[in-house]
Amino acid sequence: MRDETRIVHAGRHPEAFSGAVNPPVYHVSTVLSPNLADWEQKKEDYAAERPGMYYGRHGTPTLEALEEAIATLEGGHRAVLFPSGLAACAGAILSYVKAGDHILVTDSAYGPTRRVALRFLTRFGVTTEFYDPLIGAGIHALLRPNTSVVVVEAPGSLTFEMQDIPAIAAAAHRGGSIVIMDNTWATPLYFKPFEHGVDVSVQAATKYIVGHSDAMVGTVSVTKEAWPKLRTTHVDLGQTAGPDDVYLAQRGLRTMATRLKQHWESGVMLADWVSHQPEVERVLHPALPADPGHAIWKRDFLGASGLFGVVLKSVSKAAFAAFIDGLELYGIGASWGGYESLVMPFDPREVRSATRWPSTGPCFRIHAGLESPADLLVDLEAGFGRMRAAL
Ligand SMILES: *Cc1c(COP(=O)(O)O)cnc(C)c1O
Repeated sequence: MRDETRIVHAGRHPEAFSGAVNPPVYHVSTVLSPNLADWEQKKEDYAAERPGMYYGRHGTPTLEALEEAIATLEGGHRAVLFPSGLAACAGAILSYVKAGDHILVTDSAYGPTRRVALRFLTRFGVTTEFYDPLIGAGIHALLRPNTSVVVVEAPGSLTFEMQDIPAIAAAAHRGGSIVIMDNTWATPLYFKPFEHGVDVSVQAATKYIVGHSDAMVGTVSVTKEAWPKLRTTHVDLGQTAGPDDVYLAQRGLRTMATRLKQHWESGVMLADWVSHQPEVERVLHPALPADPGHAIWKRDFLGASGLFGVVLKSVSKAAFAAFIDGLELYGIGASWGGYESLVMPFDPREVRSATRWPSTGPCFRIHAGLESPADLLVDLEAGFGRMRAAL
């Protein structure tokens, strides 16, 4: 079966719900048992990881539907849900570290994930070392006997570097480390983490899976070997996700394959056009042939989402503001993956420590939404016109 088919069917069990196409939304904490035997059976089923309801936090058919679909699509053994993408990033790392460990985190990691490492893990005696995202097999030189986790993300948050995941994973595994990937950009459709050596894959489902900017969910899927530690940590930390948000995520998922094709096409078209503007120093989009990460993207990825970065030459603040402020179709805001286009100014220098950001011009990130690509282009053209006039 192809992914476009699996994404429609994975995790859905209409026969269990009187034929309803989508799983019902269970709003539940307490689950009542009619007698002692049933109560003990529920406990036993939960301990043995059999489906069923024992207590709201421990899973419901609503949550299981999304977990099953994500694990199936990403190619993992099992998946669990978190209340946000960041909670999933933190939960994934916490599952595999203990006091005295050393972890390696790509310098291009999602900013708040850096903070989990620097501000939170430090308090518990876990040391973090950031590394050059382009390190590849060279990561072996940074591995120590106590390196328990290597965090990868491709392309990188904000800066879009592609990482040689198979090379990094091979070195990490030789050193006995677990490889955790933030796979949000590619979604479970466009990068298959477990086929490339990743042990633990994180999705901010808030982005393309939800797809409508109206709910927050995180997912973590894992190999069979990595499952027991993830499950224990997820249970011990009391992590779950709200039933309505999870319902919206599984609802969004069903149309994601179709939506992504448009995000991909519009994103590449806009990125290519932007790359030819004289005010632009570089466009950060691995699906563009001129991108330094293009060869790895072609080798390992099955598609591209609609998110890319732009580095301008040194233009004045006023010219940059003239560009951003007049955009009509691109909302200024954090997050991405919804049906609507976004623009977000950023400064990579605020989230780097192992590598030096080589440019000084202002940067912005575009999320190409599902509007007409022609209209999106016209809006950008007008923006560059305003910037030019204000230079
Ligand atoms: C947005 C994002 C997250 C965090 O997801 P939230 O649901 O906003 O907490 C994690 N990783 C990446 C790459 C993201 O873009």
